[in-house]
Amino acid sequence: MDTHVFDVLVIGAGIAGATAAAHLAATHRVALLEAEESAGYHATGRSAAIWIRNYGGADVRILTAASRGFFEAPPAGFAEASLARPRPVVHLAPADQVEHLRATIAEGDDMREISLDAVQAMAPVLRPGYAVMAAIESDCFDIDVAAMHQGFLRQTRLAGGVLALRSRAGRLWRENGTWHAETSTGAVFTAPTIVNAAGAWGDEVARLAGLAPIGLQPKRRTACIIDPGDHDCADWPLLGDAGHGWYVRPEARRKLMVSPADETDSDPCDAQPDEYDVAVAIDRMQQALDIPVSRIEHRWAGLRSFTPDRGLAIGQGAEAGFFWMVGQGGYGMQTAPAAGRLLAALVAQNDPGALAAAVPLCDPMRFARSAAA
Ligand SMILES: Cc1cc2nc3c(=O)[nH]c(=O)nc-3n(C[C@H](O)[C@H](O)[C@H](O)COP(=O)(O)OP(=O)(O)OC[C@H]3O[C@@H](n4cnc5c(N)ncnc54)[C@H](O)[C@@H]3O)c2cc1C
Repeated sequence: MDTHVFDVLVIGAGIAGATAAAHLAATHRVALLEAEESAGYHATGRSAAIWIRNYGGADVRILTAASRGFFEAPPAGFAEASLARPRPVVHLAPADQVEHLRATIAEGDDMREISLDAVQAMAPVLRPGYAVMAAIESDCFDIDVAAMHQGFLRQTRLAGGVLALRSRAGRLWRENGTWHAETSTGAVFTAPTIVNAAGAWGDEVARLAGLAPIGLQPKRRTACIIDPGDHDCADWPLLGDAGHGWYVRPEARRKLMVSPADETDSDPCDAQPDEYDVAVAIDRMQQALDIPVSRIEHRWAGLRSFTPDRGLAIGQGAEAGFFWMVGQGGYGMQTAPAAGRLLAALVAQNDPGALAAAVPLCDPMRFARSAAA
């Protein structure tokens, strides 16, 4: 049998697996197993790539804030260009969303009301009469996702880690304290520790190992790119409604990403955009913004996978040496640097330092406990 011996096997080479592998590779022999021909083919290659402070639950906010320094000043040689580009986020409230927006401002950090004239000055396409109130989070930024993902993969390789592509873990078992993963190539990888970073397939990987799933639900989100006509949108803020029914994010001078912020339950799969969702995205956007759309340049969909409480699951599961790194939902990019650090500290049984408050919040065992109660 073609057997490869490591200290840690990481299953899935999206952003979760890449940051886990990079942080572990400094001190462990790491193999990163990826089912597809390229790393980042699924959710990681399909995100909107934005860092928003006031997003998600307490666990997400801790890891989002703790990741900020990395985006601003990554280690020397990590990426050729900057990982972060400032991009304010503007929330627009039609009359029926005003209360919701007020509550969001009250519980958020660094978020304040701004006048609709100020929004109009930033994005002169806002239709008069759509919103009655607006708020801005100035301190957000676009993430260069490809550079971050490649940076973590490079760090893994430089530290001696191995990325095995076209290597779907199909059989997982533990023998004499060692995990074995037989991949689609027939090779067997062994290690005392396994990290399940399989994204939408996280529960499937647990079942392969004979372990209970945590109840992950992949949800499809759709996006498309349009040309905003005569407008140069490069410096517009991200604009969306306060009720999360749509948003737009500039990709370049003449490229605007539009999403209906959909969350359609899905099985784990190669998600494809539904024409209806694309039409909904355009319709909702056009109620707010005066942008004619003659052609959709590009459309895609990806799976955002949520745990039952929509929090992250990072830490050891019921079985010795089996770690979860799943449930990144819509925040896998903005939490990635700190999430990898946290996972590596938990695997190595090191003090997670400033991330300690996130440990109980991210504990994957909370789902087993609530099922037993
Ligand atoms: C439209 C959209 C917009 C988004 N916007 C943002 C945003 O603005 N900011 C943000 O922070 N996040 C955003 N996200 C969320 C972010 O993309 C995800 O949280 C993140 O990509 C999840 O990464 P992952 O590594 O867990 O999953 P994935 O990238 O899906 O990686 C999992 C990998 O595991 C592999 N795998 C599965 N099973 C096996 C197996 N048995 N053996 C080997 N490999 C296996 C898969 O092939 C896959 O490559 C968005 C997502 C979408 C879809």
